[in-house]
Amino acid sequence: MFVDIHTHLDNQSVIKIVNDNFEEKILTTVGIHPWEVGVIANEVPRDLQSLGMTTAIGEVGLDKVHKETFEKQIEVFEEMIRLSESYKKPMIIHCVRAYSEIIEIRKKTRATMPWVIHGFNSSVETMRQLLRHDMYISLGEILYRNENQAVKILKNIPLGRLFLETDVSGRDIKDVYSKAAGLLECDLDFLCRQIFENYGRLETTH
Ligand SMILES: [Zn+2]
Repeated sequence: MFVDIHTHLDNQSVIKIVNDNFEEKILTTVGIHPWEVGVIANEVPRDLQSLGMTTAIGEVGLDKVHKETFEKQIEVFEEMIRLSESYKKPMIIHCVRAYSEIIEIRKKTRATMPWVIHGFNSSVETMRQLLRHDMYISLGEILYRNENQAVKILKNIPLGRLFLETDVSGRDIKDVYSKAAGLLECDLDFLCRQIFENYGRLETTH
């Protein structure tokens, strides 16, 4: 079983589970992406359609490349956290240059649902801080673009907190797992089992 914790399908952010017979299970997620906060109405929709039926809230988060909307992003993100906590849904988080803000907001809101930081691409120290606040780390393109950094991160992350993803890369999730297993020098099946267990833990929170 290969869990792709964050990818896109027809303009929607989804979680994909691929089994050994190449059968896919698609689980939808809903949320307001930080790039979208400028174009949505002033009021964040209180009940995002179909929230009850979705697997997780995502992708949501903060992106400092889009500085002009940063305050609005924080407002929307905090609203997403309220939904996550009340519907008991984990969150898939997009974060660009705003890791300290994410940590501050987690502390401030006392959020308890699991948060998965998708597409993590920062230092080992930042990763440790996220782990200290009970977050999960998902890796994708960093495995191909910055192998040295990826190895450092992989070797310092407890396997119980790791996820893998394809996001918009168009890669095959099985390749991403093989790549990670290679860098970790561990058995592919072992890695699959471990991440599937992590996924099980996310699911049982709601
Ligand atoms: Zn994405």
